[in-house]
Amino acid sequence: MTDIPGRVPPRLELCPRCSEHIYAGTNLCPHCGGEVPALLAAREEAIAEALDALQRLEAALALS
Ligand SMILES: [Zn+2]
Repeated sequence: MTDIPGRVPPRLELCPRCSEHIYAGTNLCPHCGGEVPALLAAREEAIAEALDALQRLEAALALS
């Protein structure tokens, strides 16, 4: 088994807009040209809103 220093496999993520593989830390998606940090932030916000809505729904159901 040989270890080659500096040859770490690149981490890949999925573009939040087009779902193509992009390198982790990429700022501009090479496939759709989307700004990855902004898209990730928007997705986080949407998930947080969905969780908030779910919690309010669960609270409303618990009261009935
Ligand atoms: Zn993309």
